Amino acid sequence: MKVKCVLCDKIDVIDDESLLAKRLRNRPIHTYMCPECHERITEKTKARLATGKFRFYRSTTSEDDW
Ligand SMILES: [Zn+2]
Repeated sequence: MKVKCVLCDKIDVIDDESLLAKRLRNRPIHTYMCPECHERITEKTKARLATGKFRFYRSTTSEDDW
């Protein structure tokens, strides 16, 4: 199936039987990101984590319990 990257509008073709294709079909709200953009986002996230200003919360409730 053809998919369009939500960030750079690049058209990619992915295997119809791949997990990603199935996910996109079942949940149209799930957006596709090409590997290049995915990589970029991952790098940005890593950089933010390194600054210590950005934190991931596994669960908001467990944080509230502190
Ligand atoms: Zn992209």
